[in-house]
Amino acid sequence: MDKKEFFDSVINMETQIGQLYKQLGELKEYLAEFLEENNSLKLENKHLRQRLEQIENSNNQRTSCDEGNSGEADSAEEMFDIGEGYDNLARLYQEGFHICNFHFGSPRKQKEDCLFCLSFLNKK
Ligand SMILES: [Zn+2]
Repeated sequence: MDKKEFFDSVINMETQIGQLYKQLGELKEYLAEFLEENNSLKLENKHLRQRLEQIENSNNQRTSCDEGNSGEADSAEEMFDIGEGYDNLARLYQEGFHICNFHFGSPRKQKEDCLFCLSFLNKK
């Protein structure tokens, strides 16, 4: 390897290192974005779990009160179930979450109204 070749090869390595450094920077940016997204998804998940727990608890409380009825599921009770499910969804919407099929459970940005959610609420 003569001096010229050696010099070229060093220049070449320098270029490659520069490119790698740039790629590393980009990867770092992606990683930061992913971490941020992951974090907000975790929070959202936690919030939804808490809501689910509350809903399940309120359902359990009602079931244990109804045990005296020996499983007689009359239609009035069913109506009540639907009504409560609806209230829970309406509350979830009020708290700033989507309840529509398209974005269910995801937070509404700046709590802006969602036409799909609203039409769902009005259907009742
Ligand atoms: Zn929606």
